[in-house]
Formats: sequence, C-alpha cells, structure tokens
Amino acid sequence: MGKTIAVVGAGAAGMMAAICAARAGAQVTVYERNDRVGKKILATGNGKCNFSNENMGSEWYYGSGRLLVEEVYRTFGLQETKTFFTDLGMRIKNRNGYLYPASEQAATVLDVLRYEMMRLSIDIHTNQQIVGIKKQRGGFVIEAADQKKYRYDAVILTCGGKAAPKTGSDGQGFGLARQMGHQIVPTVPALTALRCKENFYKQIAGVRCEAGLALWIGKQKVCMERGELQITDYGISGIPVFQMSRQAAYALRDQKCTTVEIDFMPDYNDNEFVSFWNERWVRQKDQSMEQFVTGIVNKKIGLLLLKLADMKETEKAANVPKSKREKLGRLYRAFPVTVKETNSYEQAQVCAGGVDCREVTKKLESDIVHGLYFAGEMLDVDGICGGYNLQWAWSSGAVAGMAAAKCSDKED
Ligand SMILES: Cc1cc2nc3c(=O)[nH]c(=O)nc-3n(C[C@H](O)[C@H](O)[C@H](O)COP(=O)(O)OP(=O)(O)OC[C@H]3O[C@@H](n4cnc5c(N)ncnc54)[C@H](O)[C@@H]3O)c2cc1C
Repeated sequence: MGKTIAVVGAGAAGMMAAICAARAGAQVTVYERNDRVGKKILATGNGKCNFSNENMGSEWYYGSGRLLVEEVYRTFGLQETKTFFTDLGMRIKNRNGYLYPASEQAATVLDVLRYEMMRLSIDIHTNQQIVGIKKQRGGFVIEAADQKKYRYDAVILTCGGKAAPKTGSDGQGFGLARQMGHQIVPTVPALTALRCKENFYKQIAGVRCEAGLALWIGKQKVCMERGELQITDYGISGIPVFQMSRQAAYALRDQKCTTVEIDFMPDYNDNEFVSFWNERWVRQKDQSMEQFVTGIVNKKIGLLLLKLADMKETEKAANVPKSKREKLGRLYRAFPVTVKETNSYEQAQVCAGGVDCREVTKKLESDIVHGLYFAGEMLDVDGICGGYNLQWAWSSGAVAGMAAAKCSDKED
C-alpha cells in the first residue's frame, strides 16, 4: 500500500501536491478550512486566471527561495505545467506570453483539478481547519479545530500566506510550521497599491496613464518599472506599482524613507524631452499656462503640476521665468510622491516572506523534520505579476507531492 499523506490547504499548491502524490501511488487526504477547494484560484487574473508565463525563470522571484525556484523548475517547470493542464483537457491561450485557460474562465482551472482529484479518489475534507501537528515515531498526528486527530506517514503544508485572507489564507499555516521548529521570514503584503502622503490625490483620482516609475529607498534607486499607472484617491496603483510594492513594503517595515518618482513622459529620453520642452515654450509663448499644459499628458495631471510649480493657469507662458519653466519640466519627468504604507493583506495579491527556504531541501522537504513538506506561497518565495505566483504554486506543489509519495521511512 502507498504512503498515507495529508495535504493541509487546498489552494493551487495543495491540489497540485495532492494530485502528484496520488499519481505516484500515495493515499492522499486533503484538509481545507473553507467549504470548498481552490477559492483563491477563482479570483486570479480578474477571473480569467493568468496561470503561468512563457517567459519563466528564477529572476522573476524574490525571497530566500530564489535558488530553490531554479531547482524546482528543473524538475517541474513551465513545460511540465502546460502538459499537465493540456492532458487534463484544458486548452491554453497565450496572450503576449501570459498564459490563460482558453475558456478565459478561472473556474476551468479549478474544475480540471477537481475532476482529477475525483478520478484519483483523493479524500477531500472541507470545513476542516488543521490547528496542530506533531511528529510521532514513523509519522505525524495532525489535529483539526474540532479536536479530531488523524495519523499520516507524511504531511504537506500548503496553507498559503496572509494575502486575501477572505479566501482562507490568513497566516495560520505559519503557526503549524513554527510548531515543527521552522523559522518564518517576516511577511509583508506584496503586489498591491501604495498609499501616499500628499493631499492632492482626490483631485487626480481616476487618472490612468502610461508612466515610468522609480522606487527610491533613502538615497538609493532600487528599481524601475514602466506601465499603466493608476491614480487612486489615496495614492498610486496599477501593475508597475504592484511590481515595486514588495520592496517598498520591506523598506517601510524598516521605517526607511520610501518615495516613487513618476516620469509622465517615458517615451522621451532626456535629450528628446529637452528639445520638446524648449520648442514648446517658443511655439506656445502667447498662450495661458492652462493652454500650455493642455495636450502634453492627462489634463488633470498638467493642472496639478502647474500648481505644484507655483504657477497660475491664467499666467502667460512668455512671462514665466526660466527657473519655473525648469521646475515644471522636472515635475513631468520626475514627479516625487512619498509612500507612507502599502495596502493591507486584504487587497494584496501575494504575501512576501514565509517559511525560510534555507530550512527545506530541493525536494521541498523540511530539513528539520523528516516527512514534512511545504509548497506554494507558504514558502518564502514570491514572484512578480504575470502568472509567476501560480507557476510557483503548481511547480512546488508537484515537486513536494511527488517527493512525499516516495519519502523513506527513515526516523528522525
Ligand atoms: C485577487 C488575486 C489575483 C491573483 N491573480 C494571480 C494571477 O493572475 N496569476 C498568478 O500567478 N497569481 C495570482 N495571484 C496569486 C496566486 O493566486 C497565489 O500566489 C496562489 O494562489 C497561492 O497558492 P497557494 O496554494 O500557495 O495558497 P492559497 O491559494 O492561499 O491556498 C491556501 C489554502 O489553504 C487553506 N488553509 C489555510 N490554513 C489552513 C488550515 N489551517 N487548515 C486547512 N486549510 C487551510 C486556505 O483556506 C486556502 O484554501 C492572485 C492573488 C489574488 C489574491
């Protein structure tokens, strides 16, 4: 008879782990605290589930598990994931490298996983929250919130992190990992919007525009992004902001001064901008400053920049002194905003931090407790936007599931 394995948490990583362990001959039981499996998957990719990306590699990940990502992807990477889903009957749509189910329904991804779990006779216990785990000779005893205890040869913890707690992942899994002696790298919300200090956001809320962004921590520029910036009534959002939110979150946690410089004209290099700027002052010298800023970028932004450069809308362009012209030009190119906090875990797509990957093997087994495995967002691995976090869930789930099914009876 195969090994008995408990998978705690039925998100993307847990379902993948369960399927791969069962295919490798294990008898698998899944415990999920929600009344259904895979709740978070349904919310991914705006309901379309961007489940992976053609441009896959460890360089798109952060955390103590960056090298681990490489190892794991060598065993079960992008190609294996595409084959896995295709074999389950799901056609794949490639939109500029971003992979989705062809149905454009996240429910498809969940359905094919559910059907496969049924086919493999995986025992699924919903409304079962696991609150305790103990190692006992030759196996583990896990305890549910109703105090029932269950014994297994191996356990895979796939409880997720703290992001989107309404979907069931509220960080409780970290408590289980701690019970087993693991360290948790401090967590922060990531892939989320940034809340800023200035008081003008309500005036420009709703603006969406192409922009270049640079994140500064103290006097150091730590990353640059480009894409559609969205201004909200509390700060900045959109994909380029999400991509830098993790670094901002850790800097803010360490109480470091965190600013973002916005380039509203990212298509221009410095020389091109200087020519554009100088020509405009010549050609539009007889206009009011309101007319002058009209047509450069979104008008709400133009009027705000005028105000911040201490100019009046009615002022004639020809009368504006050189220092103010330069000031206004700098604002278009490097508009500084001060970040005071990120949005909370409720609005974050992922949780950075988690189980320290220096304490797990490349098969994702605990280095501390033999027979205990981890996968998914529980581990200190987080990727950028674009299908990278789900790919980590699929790959790490598959590797942990296959390894757990084969794990030896060695005693600790
Ligand atoms: C709105 C949103 C959109 C996203 N879009 C994308 C996207 O398009 N592409 C992408 O790659 N990533 C996306 N992500 C991120 C991605 O969804 C996650 O990284 C991934 O789903 C994590 O999978 P997981 O299985 O590790 O954790 P989770 O999906 O969080 O699953 C953990 C499961 O464990 C259960 N659980 C927790 N504790 C216990 C316990 N003690 N006992 C029993 N059960 C427990 C939870 O209820 C949950 O079902 C998005 C995230 C959000 C919130």
